[in-house]
Amino acid sequence: MNVLVINAGSSSLKYQLLNMENESVMASGLVERIGDAKGVLTHKKMNGADEEKTVIERAIPNHKEGLHLVVDLITDPEKGVIKDKKEIYAIGHRVVQGGEQFNTSIRIDESIKQAIRDNNPLAPLHNPANLVGIEVAEELFPGTPNVAVFDTEFHQTMPPKAFLYGLPYEYYKELRIRRYGFHGTSHKYVAKKAASVIGKKLEDVNVITVHLGNGCSMAAVKKGKCIDTSMGMTPLAGVMMGTRSGDFDPAIIPYLVKHKGMNVHDLDDVFNKKSGLKGICGLNDMRDIHAKVEQGDEMARLALDMFVYRVKKYIGAYTAALGTLDIVAFTAGIGENDDIARKEICEDMEGLGILFDADKNKGRFASPQAIHKDGSKVQVWVIPTNEELQIAQDTVSTLS
Ligand code: ADP
Repeated sequence: MNVLVINAGSSSLKYQLLNMENESVMASGLVERIGDAKGVLTHKKMNGADEEKTVIERAIPNHKEGLHLVVDLITDPEKGVIKDKKEIYAIGHRVVQGGEQFNTSIRIDESIKQAIRDNNPLAPLHNPANLVGIEVAEELFPGTPNVAVFDTEFHQTMPPKAFLYGLPYEYYKELRIRRYGFHGTSHKYVAKKAASVIGKKLEDVNVITVHLGNGCSMAAVKKGKCIDTSMGMTPLAGVMMGTRSGDFDPAIIPYLVKHKGMNVHDLDDVFNKKSGLKGICGLNDMRDIHAKVEQGDEMARLALDMFVYRVKKYIGAYTAALGTLDIVAFTAGIGENDDIARKEICEDMEGLGILFDADKNKGRFASPQAIHKDGSKVQVWVIPTNEELQIAQDTVSTLS
């Protein structure tokens, strides 16, 4: 049973074809610069652990053309991985914003597309692009079921005390202003995996999932249900990120308008693209920041300290929210690869029951790895995320 996972952006289309009998990746790739004079398709065919790469550079005028090229590659008589596109059982689509309508993945029909469209105002950069991906897949794969898997669905179990803001209640009712949270497929996958690696059921443990990539978010998962998460109505809130601010005092907004003459567009641009690690030290890639810290750069050190401190505070807050904590699970680019950040976050947390093991922590991990000392009340793990697999699993379970 093969499932194609599609993550469509405004000018890109990421895809992965998985064989769900053994949950292995058959092929994956990325179509970029759709609509530009020169588009790029980077396709990888898996041959066991090896990958065979094909790069196509040419104008790719729209998403349909992009997906057409992908279908040609995966069904190519010599280089392909399947003979016919009919061998694809279903297509799973990442959809960023499901609002309050969707607390689970769902098979797509006209009414579901309309519901996704209704959420466009909440995710104007993402949902319209996700819809394009869905419509193109419907055209190119007639008769094949499409399933929407929402970034927000895992967080829909949050209670009102966690998802509401201290704003006039009618803003929630009229404008749907509330915390939705994002990276849901990653938090779900990692929480499940964390429970399974310690031999427990997800329903029997409390987990804090720490997704640290370019975008960073954390979730408090109590007996399998998300009770709080750090991102908000948009993916700007929470911990500090590569270029996004994370939490700050909202009164700074009118202050900037008054003193810097900034408008809505300027503010959006600064908070999303010029803040976070980049806003402090000019760099947003954690590897570059470590290199600068090594050279004694004080601003890079400050940016790293701020990043670490905020993640630490959220671990404390979510421990309180959960009541008891069993596992902290690190994931994504920084969470899986950055032993310095993990060490600085987890050190001096004995009071919370975390006995961190700096030796076990050393290195980058492509499979689950415990990084706590024997006897630590709270276990700390690195759990590599797999959002595509989670989307494929949800696609299969939605259809069965
Ligand atoms: P995205 O959120 O775009 O999916 P990723 O999960 O790939 O991003 O994470 C990107 C981040 O991971 C970058 O800040 C990058 O510096 C960091 N990263 C990747 N590899 C390493 C590494 N070896 N050491 C430290 N940080 C790393």
